[in-house]
Amino acid sequence: MKTSFTIPRPVRAGPWRWLVPVLLVLLFLLVLVWLPWQARQMESNERQEQLIADTLWVEQTLRFELARSEEALAALGADLVADGPGAAVLQARLGQMFKNGHELQRLVWMDTQGRVKAHRGLDLPSGPTESSRNAEAMSRTTHAGRYSDPYGVTPLAHGLIDFYLPLYHDGAYVGSLVATYNLQNLLDENVPWWFAQENALTLLDRDDGVVAQRAAGGPGRGVYTHKRALDLPGASIVLATDSVKGAPKLLPNLLVGSVIVLALGLVTSLLALWRHIARTLAAENALRQQMAFRTAMENSLLTGLRARDLEGRVTYVNPAFCRMVGLSSAELLGRKPPMPYWAPEAMAEYESRFKKVLAGQATPQFETVFQRSDGVRVPVLVFEAPLVDAHGRHTGWMSSVLDITDRKRAEELSRQQQEKLETSARLATMGEISSMLAHELNQPLAAISSYTAGALNVLERVSTGDAGAAPSPLPDLGMLRRALEQANTQARRAGQIIRSVHEFVKKREPRRETVAVQHVVDGIRALIDLQARQSYVSLVLDIAPDLPPVLADRVLLEQVLLNLTRNAIEAMQAVEPARRVLRIAAAQEGSRVAVSVIDNGHGIAPEVAERLFSPFFSTKAEGMGMGLSICRTAIEFHGGLLTHADNPGGGTIFTFSLQLA
Ligand code: ADP
Repeated sequence: MKTSFTIPRPVRAGPWRWLVPVLLVLLFLLVLVWLPWQARQMESNERQEQLIADTLWVEQTLRFELARSEEALAALGADLVADGPGAAVLQARLGQMFKNGHELQRLVWMDTQGRVKAHRGLDLPSGPTESSRNAEAMSRTTHAGRYSDPYGVTPLAHGLIDFYLPLYHDGAYVGSLVATYNLQNLLDENVPWWFAQENALTLLDRDDGVVAQRAAGGPGRGVYTHKRALDLPGASIVLATDSVKGAPKLLPNLLVGSVIVLALGLVTSLLALWRHIARTLAAENALRQQMAFRTAMENSLLTGLRARDLEGRVTYVNPAFCRMVGLSSAELLGRKPPMPYWAPEAMAEYESRFKKVLAGQATPQFETVFQRSDGVRVPVLVFEAPLVDAHGRHTGWMSSVLDITDRKRAEELSRQQQEKLETSARLATMGEISSMLAHELNQPLAAISSYTAGALNVLERVSTGDAGAAPSPLPDLGMLRRALEQANTQARRAGQIIRSVHEFVKKREPRRETVAVQHVVDGIRALIDLQARQSYVSLVLDIAPDLPPVLADRVLLEQVLLNLTRNAIEAMQAVEPARRVLRIAAAQEGSRVAVSVIDNGHGIAPEVAERLFSPFFSTKAEGMGMGLSICRTAIEFHGGLLTHADNPGGGTIFTFSLQLA
């Protein structure tokens, strides 16, 4: 079967089709998060390395400055030991030392006993610290210059450090030169401003106490720090640097920020897209299932389906329709009238109906005939309904077509059977009454015979003359006429009886015509009379003279009345003769005429009433049991009902009604 639209099947990739894009997006996000972190890490490492290098450089500078001072002291010491200069020269040489740098605060020349031989610079009223004394002792033991630990004398003069240089002459200890440096000045003098601006510098003693510092304020205090010991023999001084730079920001610039925003946007839109695709797939799947269900349903239908557009072009047919007309869907789709399945004899009907369809007025339901491709006529019942699309627009017509061949055949069969039954019932009825008919016909025939014999006698007498009597010249014409008239009447009556029986028995198609109830009764009066007389029943007719005619099949109606009257007469066989009255009444009731057959017979017992209209049900020894069944069928054929009721005066009333003509 071909439908006008199909949905392509999706590629069956399963959940795997999402794997690659999802992994890629995850990877992308991971890289996005990792990149700034990595950049920050690199920057951090770089700053730390820079700080270490800077610290090293400062340490070298400080160390170099002190080393330079040590050398100058050594040179001075050598001169002092060799020359033994006078006081003025000595002071001048000492003063020269102070020009080299502001860090030098004090210079003392001591003899071997520790007595001051010359002094210049700061006065230390408290004397040397323990560390200084240790340094002196150590310098003499090691024969090398030695530093003391830093110390302070006043709040102003703190961060001081002593350097003891032992002096020897010809291998013998001849005293010491003591230089006192101010570490704060050392820092201030030797560290350039640009370095100090970026780094806080501190000199720490053995206990991490601050002995000198150049502080710079900055947000990054404590983030990047580095410590390096100043390699001074005997002293434990550590140079600590602290960069003013803070930790690098994780989101250092707008670029990373916007990349993150873009990534978030990407993820959001991917999610939205995913959801949308999932929804679309679900809808598509549901639609496909619906389509499969619809197709299965249409294919299993026995009812033909045909859709046409507003111009009558076939847009869809189902297999049942194709079977009905013996054509494939390919031969039908797109076709416009005249259709290949239109039977030539009904062309006019199709065309007039098609004109109505074009005018937008399809007949909702009609019976017609299609011609199958092999020429067989298929009677069909067609239901048409407007085809409306999803937007409510009228786009054509949808027809469902029922093949009613079987129904028609069954109807025809039942009609034929009914007719046969009626005929046989009529024949049976006739069989029953034929003996009575023969007897009744005997009577008029005997009468005719005797009248004609009388008439012949009269004529005989005229021609031969009576023996012993004078021959009469003329026959007795009056007597002759009466005899012939009687014979004629009897012959007519016999003829009437025979004709009505003939009419009744003759097989006829049901034919409705305008008939007066009175005429129908008149037609069978002779037969009813015949039966009635046999059973000493008197017949009373109660039919209004102005009763309008009805629409009925005359012979069927006669048959109904004959059956009902025969039953009524038979029901009264056992009642006393005076009460044997059969009444036929007819009166108008609205748009119908009600006809009743009333008897005073034995009535109908409830158990009989139950099966009264069943075929072959009879309480009579000779009964066939078909009469009432046939009557009911005949009355229903006329669109009426045959009912019975008890007669209040005893007996039964059978009533049926017929439509006025
Ligand atoms: P049949 O007359 O051959 O028996 P019917 O179908 O005409 O068949 O009637 C069926 C039965 O209905 C009769 O046998 C009878 O018992 C009952 N019946 C019919 N008409 C009357 C009536 N007028 N009064 C009483 N009984 C009746």
